[in-house]
Amino acid sequence: MRVTVIGSGYVGTTLAACLADVGHDVTAVDIDSDVVAALNEGRAAIHEPGLDDLLAEHAGNRLRATTEYDSVPDADVTFLAIGTPSRGDGSIDLGPLTAAAEMTGEALAEENDSSPADTGDRHLVVVKSTITPPGVAEVRDALLTGAGGAAVRVELATNPEFLREGSAVHDFQHPDKLVFGTESEWATGRLEALYEPLLSAIGGDVPVVRTDPETAMMIKYANNAALASKISLANDLGNICKQFGIDAYEVMDAVGLDDRIGAKFLRSGVGYGGSCFPKDVDAIRAAAREAGYEPALLDATVAVNDGQPERMLGLLDDHADVAGKRVAVLGLAFKPGTDDIRNSRATPVIEGLQARGAEVVGYDPVATANMRERFPDVEYAESAPAALDGASAALVVTDWDEFAALDDDFDAMADPVVIDGRRIIERREGLVYEGLTW
Ligand code: NAD
Repeated sequence: MRVTVIGSGYVGTTLAACLADVGHDVTAVDIDSDVVAALNEGRAAIHEPGLDDLLAEHAGNRLRATTEYDSVPDADVTFLAIGTPSRGDGSIDLGPLTAAAEMTGEALAEENDSSPADTGDRHLVVVKSTITPPGVAEVRDALLTGAGGAAVRVELATNPEFLREGSAVHDFQHPDKLVFGTESEWATGRLEALYEPLLSAIGGDVPVVRTDPETAMMIKYANNAALASKISLANDLGNICKQFGIDAYEVMDAVGLDDRIGAKFLRSGVGYGGSCFPKDVDAIRAAAREAGYEPALLDATVAVNDGQPERMLGLLDDHADVAGKRVAVLGLAFKPGTDDIRNSRATPVIEGLQARGAEVVGYDPVATANMRERFPDVEYAESAPAALDGASAALVVTDWDEFAALDDDFDAMADPVVIDGRRIIERREGLVYEGLTW
């Protein structure tokens, strides 16, 4: 099939590369000419394991990139994979996506004008971006406004994406489920045909949920809200355990044996971050309020998450006054395996330390450059041992494997106070060690 993917970020590039890999003829579109140039050279502008290999193999034959929308009229399917950031109040900013939808409509209208004998084929435009259910109508309106009443038959569908940054290619190629939000059998059939080679390649039985466009997007939000809330529930229970002097991991390991609950996402600690959970939970809370419902449980999910860095700093206060002292922050990325610092728990931890007058020294194996832009005044060490050297305290924010191997390195600290937010430090003897929930 001929596919156009508009927006070539984490989701769009992964989608374009994986669809080309299963045999489709793909045009990737982006307004950023550097992104387009990189794709045409067979490499991604973002870091995702396996993505460059796919691009190197398919760029120039089954995959090409452009800043123009002129492949849209001939495409069997056009995807919109544009960012949907938060506004200041947490609500979703549909501006970039509706702009792209309008340009897609204009491209269809132009084609229609230039070929009056057009047979009136239907066009399918599929929203891959995460948008709230009320946002679906806004994107559809923008698409139709772009088409400007031209005799273009265009249908909007949604197909939310569940991949995780850091394993985007693997997740796209091995989905737990596919969700098709369509308004006609024709659109559902076209999405089935599009995904058929991918499903054949993995040979597994992937559940396909067929529903309407708004419900499909609600499934995406409910999915992320459930995961974020599971983490906050583990943290809330973990904080209670800590008050009682009980190890939350011993408790939750046992709780996870109940197959109605499951063992995943029960590791308590300093909380979730990144570009999806915080943004998506905020967006659905704001949309719920707008519709007249107060989402009490999701408000609590966010409140518990926001409180974890402060609890970590409180444990530090119990053991040390860090004013004028060197304090190491180990881990700056929002999770291991990525250089992404968006909504990283390291940010409120560093801010809290600075408010206490500490001299912060940060270390991360890959995210230092990004954090330096956010906190240029912080010192950054080349290694975890270098960050610990002479420090009066260390706060562990990201569970990079290498932190588990730290041992004698703690002996170089001025005072061996270690507050662990991820239960990654193995050495305990000779340290004033506090686990956040254990
Ligand atoms: P991103 O910011 O990485 O990429 C968006 C791209 O769109 C950018 O390259 C930008 O230059 C381009 N763009 C903006 N306006 C454009 C226009 N008018 N025409 C063409 N290109 C344009 O975003 P992302 O992380 O890929 O996320 C895209 C959507 O997918 C969001 O709604 C997000 O919530 C959702 N999502 C993201 C993930 C993830 O892990 N990143 C996972 C699932 C769903």
